[in-house]
Amino acid sequence: MTMKTDIEIAQECTMEPITKIAEKAGIPDEYLEQYGKYKAKIDYNLLKKSEAKDGKLILVTAINPTPAGEGKTTTTVGLADAMQKLDKKVMVALREPSLGPVFGMKGGAAGGGYAQVVPMEDINLHFTGDFHAIGAANNLLAAMIDNHIYQGNELGIDPRKIVWKRCVDMNDRQLRFVTDGLGGRVNGVPREDGYDITVASEIMAVLCLSNDIKDLKERLGKLIVGYTYGKVSEQKPVTAHDLHAEGAMCALLKDALKPNLVQTLEHVPAIVHGGPFANIAHGCNSVTATKMALKLADYAITEAGFGADLGAEKFLDIKCRMAGLKPDAVVIVATVRALKYNGGVPKQELNEENLEALEKGLPNLMKHVHNIKHVYGLPCVVAINAFPTDTPAELALIEEKCKEAGVNVALSEVWAKGGEGGIKLAEEVIRLCDEPSDFHYSYELEGTIEDKINQIVQKIYGGKGAVLTANAKKQADQLTALGFDNAPICMAKTQYSLTDDPKKLGAPEDFEITVRNLKISAGAGFIVALTGDIMTMPGLPKVPAAERIDVDDEGRITGLF
Ligand code: ADP
Ligand code: MG
Repeated sequence: MTMKTDIEIAQECTMEPITKIAEKAGIPDEYLEQYGKYKAKIDYNLLKKSEAKDGKLILVTAINPTPAGEGKTTTTVGLADAMQKLDKKVMVALREPSLGPVFGMKGGAAGGGYAQVVPMEDINLHFTGDFHAIGAANNLLAAMIDNHIYQGNELGIDPRKIVWKRCVDMNDRQLRFVTDGLGGRVNGVPREDGYDITVASEIMAVLCLSNDIKDLKERLGKLIVGYTYGKVSEQKPVTAHDLHAEGAMCALLKDALKPNLVQTLEHVPAIVHGGPFANIAHGCNSVTATKMALKLADYAITEAGFGADLGAEKFLDIKCRMAGLKPDAVVIVATVRALKYNGGVPKQELNEENLEALEKGLPNLMKHVHNIKHVYGLPCVVAINAFPTDTPAELALIEEKCKEAGVNVALSEVWAKGGEGGIKLAEEVIRLCDEPSDFHYSYELEGTIEDKINQIVQKIYGGKGAVLTANAKKQADQLTALGFDNAPICMAKTQYSLTDDPKKLGAPEDFEITVRNLKISAGAGFIVALTGDIMTMPGLPKVPAAERIDVDDEGRITGLF
């Protein structure tokens, strides 16, 4: 039997009209803005007007990612479908995919198998245009910076110290470094410049953290575009507000701020909105999306980026803190294959039973379980995303280890069976939502920048502490002098390891994390701590997914996966 591809399964689904999904979610007509038959935006004024009590918030996170694949989005969507089968009023809140990975290596990001959100082609391509709007706002600011310099540079912006890049939603390494403003006096001021992928733009993070238009505009005004001429001690940050840019940028973003409504294959209302990078930004869907799902449903399920050390940490320490959210339960997704990979088995041998390797890889899962339960004080369940190659002995071993740690395990078969395959997981999640919890952050905002990073390294990664390079120390002093020291920390670290070395799998101990750069994202409101070179403009692989994507005469898309 050949398995159907994700897009084949998605195209077989008979979608409900979006008006019907909205009705099911209890969205009054006046707050629904239709984008065709199967997509709509929800007016954020609904958040202010509705007096409904918030539902329970469920976070889906995972072990450290491996090339074997984990399946967070798949589990998130399937869990919602399963809860619906149990007659619960449920919604999901997910990130929007970026065109870069869709045409590059990763493919789509709308779930998989029988647990997907649809229309998957639209969601993976232009969708409702949010990312284009973000690109436009980003590039408007870039244009206003260079125009300001060209028109006489009253603010004294040093062209060598501009930190604001242009952006495009594409994997295009050719644009990482460019020289622009060439062609003589009338064609601008020559300088070195560069592009980021749109999802790495700070505007994306800002949009995702904003509560409303007012908050969005204030954050846009605070974006730092560069620094003035002069010695380090005399340099002043120049902001978007200094350039009078935030009003027009906000105008471009007013509709992008509205959460997008779609549906799962089983017609559960799903909000897909915002998609910041999970390394230099916090990697979660928008605050407005999460709040909307909480307002409309009794259970709102959302996903964080990468593994729990980065994704859940930033969801909890940055997003929840800024938005005043508190999760009721956490799902940690793992696969037998990924755990064996963590135990040292090479990718091509993951299909064979290997209890020894599994046991060696399990500490990675156990570290994340420990963090959620004991550092953050939240109830959690382990979801094993089932693959046909998993053996009963392997599953039994995971169950045994989890039992020792006081956490339940549910086998999730949503990829193969849809909601029906997630009933056990759903029952456990529902049970956990009524357990007492004692949520606290992994660090408080007061204290030095170095102190906060040390707490993340020690409590979440399990390391000895952080080492700041001389350069990073200098930057910490500068940020403190500028009054940014009470901002939360956004760690930019490899997602593959609890350490800063992608090759160190499992749950290493006694390691240090080297912080090379500290950078303020003043609009988003966090300090980015970079532990290595982080790519903010990816490239395409030798054979990009784009080579397989096509559309037929009827407009039917193929090759998305
Ligand atoms: P994540 O959100 O963790 O990045 P996704 O849920 O997007 O992961 O899944 C990544 C890919 O793996 C998708 O293409 C999906 O179809 C596939 N996948 C997920 N779960 C399974 C499974 N149980 N069996 C086979 N393939 C799966
Ligand atoms: Mg995902």
